[in-house]
Amino acid sequence: GFKCGIVGLPNVGKSTLFNALTRTAAAQAANYPFCTIEPNTGEVAVPDPRLRKIAAVAKSKEIIPTRISFVDIAGLVRGASKGEGLGNQFLANIREVDAIVHVLRCFEDDDITHVEGRIDPVADAETVETELMLADLESLDRRIVQIRKRAQGKDKEATAALPMMEKALALLQEGKPTRVLLNGIDPEDLKALQGLNLLTSHPVLYVCNVAEADAATGNAHTEAVEKMATAQGARTVVISAAIEAEVAQLPDDEEHEFLAAMGLEEPGLDRLIRAGYELLHLITYFTAGPKETRAWTIEKGTKAPQAAGVIHSDFERGFIRAQTIAYDDFVTLGGEVAAKEAGKARDEGKEYVVQDGDVLLFKFNT
Ligand code: GDP
Repeated sequence: GFKCGIVGLPNVGKSTLFNALTRTAAAQAANYPFCTIEPNTGEVAVPDPRLRKIAAVAKSKEIIPTRISFVDIAGLVRGASKGEGLGNQFLANIREVDAIVHVLRCFEDDDITHVEGRIDPVADAETVETELMLADLESLDRRIVQIRKRAQGKDKEATAALPMMEKALALLQEGKPTRVLLNGIDPEDLKALQGLNLLTSHPVLYVCNVAEADAATGNAHTEAVEKMATAQGARTVVISAAIEAEVAQLPDDEEHEFLAAMGLEEPGLDRLIRAGYELLHLITYFTAGPKETRAWTIEKGTKAPQAAGVIHSDFERGFIRAQTIAYDDFVTLGGEVAAKEAGKARDEGKEYVVQDGDVLLFKFNT
């Protein structure tokens, strides 16, 4: 599955947020219970209002959302790249994630110690980023010596790997994260970059953790973070971990009223989960029938057979075609039969690139 790693300095609200995420009703959906894969990893349902609409039209008994994982990565302190604190464990954990959710403390509270003794989320972000860059720099410095030697000896693999390594190293030496390479990168270079397994090449989302009173409006700290994020081409979500922790424990029917009283339309966690999903370049297709309406996760650009393979490897192996109905057609026309009659059910083959919201029915050989 796809994983977002939650990072940040100590005492910024990571665990509060992680616990809220994994305690929500959605995370504990009856037929797909929240499961702790490891102590600090939790799967959460991706909220998607389209599910309900499709299920109503298809008269499905059940709704099954798709899911992504969040990992609470503790132990980042100044000096982590040198093995301070839980440094090495931290670095190992963070290498395993696909994207980074970076929590920044944007709340004042004299009772909660700040490790640096002041509230300054932009400076905190730089502290964390610096540790990640130092760790990358060190690991690349070490590896590139070998690769350069092998490339000189005409080793094909090394020769192919070297250009991206040099590019990444040059950036880090300038004090820039390798993430900047992601912008407009072609698929081959992306593979090469991912192959380097660097900490700073993960896409990042900043989460501003604010006091309850600032949840709807943000504050001067969140504005500063937004400015920084915009300059980096990153996104920001403003959340009050304290509110989310409370909401996560409320019964569904009280949630809306509670949030409305805070000036909020939906749980911040829903926004966070969706932003994480987008950060990972993930999209959703649906299957719908009387038994269930279900959402499935694929990466943007996935072709029909591989999309089918997410359900079952037999579907991919024996793939013949995919009956495809766009979400809007499915819902406005009133389901599969009506969409077929209106000529809106397409038969797509092996080369079809599945689109977000497609309602699919696979035909396959067993
Ligand atoms: P972590 O070290 O980043 O995982 O931080 P925790 O989630 O353990 O939070 C550290 C402390 O800050 C705990 O006592 C939390 O209750 C408190 N805390 C977390 N979020 C907020 C918040 O939004 N407002 C206030 N006032 N305290 C918070």
